[in-house]
Amino acid sequence: MVSMDTLAIKTQNKFRSLITKQTYKKGEIICEIPTEKVIDKANRYTVQIGRDRHTEVGKLSALNHSCDPNVILDTENLQMVACRDIDQGEELSFFYPSTEWEMDAPFICLCGAANCIHVVAGARFLPLSTLENHYLNRHIRELMIELLNNTESHLTKLTDV
Ligand SMILES: [Zn+2]
Repeated sequence: MVSMDTLAIKTQNKFRSLITKQTYKKGEIICEIPTEKVIDKANRYTVQIGRDRHTEVGKLSALNHSCDPNVILDTENLQMVACRDIDQGEELSFFYPSTEWEMDAPFICLCGAANCIHVVAGARFLPLSTLENHYLNRHIRELMIELLNNTESHLTKLTDV
């Protein structure tokens, strides 16, 4: 069990962020994703780990979104993993649509990355061409395929008349 002792929450003007107290190499496991409390609806303190499963993540709820993140949340292995080398004192961030299909509290991203998606509302609101450039968890890929299939059968019905 990898603990969260290496992580600290920083609060500035009521804005929370998650900072690492140590360096990590790309691919290194930082901590496990808590699953003691799984609920069926998203809120600001949850991460989606399955179609109707949202887990309260405690300290990890201070993780901010970035369109150019340094960690991924792997909801199958329930681990937070460094997706590039990370310095001590660096803020950790992940790409919210990689876990969230439809977010409870959408917002405008001001991360400034060249590939910024601007409106962060969940994967279902993003084009495939954007999503395919990011790590995506299995439930997001499945929901996306389902949405595409439904759209296709809907279009077939429309043209069948
Ligand atoms: Zn952005």
